[in-house]
Amino acid sequence: MIEFIDVDKTYPGIEAPVHALDNINFKVDAGEIYGVVGYSGAGKSTLIRCVNQLESVTEGKVIVDGKDLTSLTPSELRVIKKRIGMIFQHFNLLNSKTIYTNVAMPLILNKTPKNEIKARVTELLDFVGLSDKASQYPDQLSGGQKQRVGIARALATNPSILLCDEATSALDPQTTESILELLRKINKEYNITILLITHEMSVIRDVCHKVAVMENGKIIERGSVFDVFSNP
Ligand code: ADP
Ligand code: ADP
Repeated sequence: MIEFIDVDKTYPGIEAPVHALDNINFKVDAGEIYGVVGYSGAGKSTLIRCVNQLESVTEGKVIVDGKDLTSLTPSELRVIKKRIGMIFQHFNLLNSKTIYTNVAMPLILNKTPKNEIKARVTELLDFVGLSDKASQYPDQLSGGQKQRVGIARALATNPSILLCDEATSALDPQTTESILELLRKINKEYNITILLITHEMSVIRDVCHKVAVMENGKIIERGSVFDVFSNP
């Protein structure tokens, strides 16, 4: 589903080049919840941003749905990008737009017909439990509710992959648990493959099937969550 082959990423940097990804090799199978954990600066954000092409790799290949992202035409890339949804630590909602319009945004940008948008947004808001918030604005919502809006927006185009960038790091433990529960439901009911990055081991232990541990741009350990955690 997602595969990194010999991936390197170097940023120019201010004083010296920064080697953010150093010979990364790993594979996420369809239907998995795969977690990447590591301290700040390990290279997690860079890794996840290479999947949806917010960053391009310096060397190596990133394969998504059998296609090498590093060799696609812009129109092929647009098709693949619709297959990938993403949620963020700080939600990245449009504060001047209603919840309805925030969720609708990817479909508006795709020029989806209005009646289809309405049906899809109604269904998504129902799925994340926010049907009664459609006409409100992000500032009127709690952190957990905002992340639910982020999740609904990420699912709008029916992706097969959901990327989560520290999606629960700004939330309290109880809200974190409810968002993780929603991620499990998305994985199970919609069969969406999830790649998440976090600095919190507890998140990995709670929802992930597999884990890769990153340090200084390298994957230093990987395997099933059970194996990695039972290793002394
Ligand atoms: P993490 O998500 O694990 O905190 P990042 O991928 O954000 O790690 O960062 C990995 C390394 O790359 C860090 O040393 C960071 O300072 C550096 N880095 C990240 N983004 C940039 C950038 N746009 N320009 C230069 N260096 C960057
Ligand atoms: P703006 O883009 O100015 O923030 P709104 O987000 O209020 O405007 O609404 C944009 C369009 O989305 C409206 O014209 C309407 O068709 C639809 N819409 C907004 N809120 C709802 C809602 N609660 N239920 C159904 N449709 C809505």
